Amino acid sequence: MSWAQRLKRLFDIDIETCSVCGGSMKIIAVIEDPVVIKKILTHLRSKRRLSNPTAWRRGGR
Ligand SMILES: [Zn+2]
Repeated sequence: MSWAQRLKRLFDIDIETCSVCGGSMKIIAVIEDPVVIKKILTHLRSKRRLSNPTAWRRGGR
């Protein structure tokens, strides 16, 4: 069983199907370095806060 299948089975997270159009998706990269993960998330959070401050306050991460 692949870890994509485990995610689906345990947490009902489907990373192989697009949530917008239902098309199939494939894994193109896996980021495991915590420092890099933090940098990416911090960047996305700051972008999101700037583009939609209301959604941010309503409980976005
Ligand atoms: Zn799609």
